[in-house]
Amino acid sequence: MKMKTALLRSVGDIGIGETAKPVAGAGEVLIRPTFAGICGSDLSLFLGHRAVASFPHVLGHEIVGRVEALGEGVTTLSVGQRVVVEPNYTCGVCRFCRSGRGNICQDKRSPGVTLPGFFSEFCVAPAEFTWPVGEDISDADAATIEPLAVAFHALKMSGAGLGDTVALIGCGAIGLLLAHAAIAEGVRVIAHETNAEKLAMARGFGAVTPASNDLATLWKTEGVTAVFDTTGVSATVDLALAAAPRGSEIFLLGLSTNNASFVPLRFVREGLKLFGSIIYDHPADFSKVVSLVQRGVLKPSRIVTDTLPFDGIDRAFALASSGGPAKVLVKM
Ligand SMILES: [Zn+2]
Ligand SMILES: [Zn+2]
Repeated sequence: MKMKTALLRSVGDIGIGETAKPVAGAGEVLIRPTFAGICGSDLSLFLGHRAVASFPHVLGHEIVGRVEALGEGVTTLSVGQRVVVEPNYTCGVCRFCRSGRGNICQDKRSPGVTLPGFFSEFCVAPAEFTWPVGEDISDADAATIEPLAVAFHALKMSGAGLGDTVALIGCGAIGLLLAHAAIAEGVRVIAHETNAEKLAMARGFGAVTPASNDLATLWKTEGVTAVFDTTGVSATVDLALAAAPRGSEIFLLGLSTNNASFVPLRFVREGLKLFGSIIYDHPADFSKVVSLVQRGVLKPSRIVTDTLPFDGIDRAFALASSGGPAKVLVKM
């Protein structure tokens, strides 16, 4: 049987085509996605900043949908159930997985990257990585649970909590979600962003956005304990490293491939700490984020600026790669 799918035929060329409908194997479920988000990682593959294994390639990993069929041995889910997928399938047996650091598992498999993605009429996912969501949360909230988990992981690593002040550089989807999750925890967020529209969205989430050319003084005065860089531009990493206050921690979430630099003397003398934060830990982070959205504590759909139909996926990718809007969803 055939199904409709979005094919990335070459760099920058995406459109609707046909492929074989997948079958749920043992331990897997067949899902019909209803909404899917376009992620920064989809864009970097679409634009050729990262290479795909071969063309045509199917992108997409942020979905909400319904279970269509159960593979052999699946007892935890039922047909018709509304679900989201945690789209990084960790191996579960390597030393990182076994020590609770599955986010850096070297053998993880990722739909849209190393496996066929989810911009399709149907897709399969392991039941272990498929999470039920209630009928009472919106499609847009459910479809943005995955990027929220990415932001949540970095916030959790920082240990920032009630009454703390953190600095955020970059107010794209991940930056805005980090601000949202932090502010819900009672953390004060000082946000920096050159795009006025994104900065206004950060303010909408409750971040403070002072105009300052001297971040070092501002952050020191404000008592910043953690700095998050979400931009994927090495110049802002330089900035974060140069301006981070004494004793603070710096978390990098952006995926720049260019060099960044810092002065070791200050770094050592002022006891700075530098961390990389990639995706989320399975299953702890995802289960917590599903619960926070389910209970209405967090509303990640507030970052969604545009929703386009599946047939207009080429326009959706053009819009998402224009650098303006925070998040583009596709109605499948
Ligand atoms: Zn994503
Ligand atoms: Zn592993």
